[in-house]
Amino acid sequence: MKNIKDYNLDELKEEIIKLEEKPYRAEQIFKWIYEENVTSFDEMTNLSIALRNKLKENFTLCIYKIVKKQESKDGTKKYLFDILDGNIIETVLMNYHHGYSLCVSSQVGCKMGCKFCASTGIKFIRSLSSGEIVEQLLAVEREENIKISNVVFMGIGEPLDNYDNVINAVKIMNNQKGINIGARHISISTSGLVPKIYKLADENIRLYSFYIFTCNNKRKAQ
Ligand code: SF4
Repeated sequence: MKNIKDYNLDELKEEIIKLEEKPYRAEQIFKWIYEENVTSFDEMTNLSIALRNKLKENFTLCIYKIVKKQESKDGTKKYLFDILDGNIIETVLMNYHHGYSLCVSSQVGCKMGCKFCASTGIKFIRSLSSGEIVEQLLAVEREENIKISNVVFMGIGEPLDNYDNVINAVKIMNNQKGINIGARHISISTSGLVPKIYKLADENIRLYSFYIFTCNNKRKAQ
């Protein structure tokens, strides 16, 4: 089964056309997933039952379960999610005066081995798909009944080692017909994968900031 959250809106239109449905249906589905944050296709009540059945036959909504939730004295909340294949990932919610900020993971484990990082000992298993990245945000919004206004790619994993899926997740989060978080409210960190840094600079996305980490220190690059 394909994860329907792996598709940005243009890609979802192509998938819906393959199901012999009109492309505008993709916008309706996109709204149900990212505005209404539904957990089943049956909740998409402006779609025909026939289309809902086609969606069920071809896609999953990839709904995460919380394995553990910890809250710090300052209100920061850490979630461990079961990502439906036996692996666990970590996501952190921070409540600032300007809104809720979510730190998402981009991989299960990490290859980079930065000396200062508590995640260094976590063995790399695999990269997350874009839908698996976006579901971290949706799962926290459902759990807390909030809207998240900022996203930082500073959880477990090197985002630029999972370049295509991270950029697609940014496009999904940024889409005005769905989650609608401005690109200036999304930050990506990297341990310093230089070719991917140049590639990111050529993308037509104005991220809020872009951080480069080295093994022992961190500097804000842009
Ligand atoms: S890239 Fe990020 S998650 Fe990976 S070891 Fe370095 S700081 Fe930790």
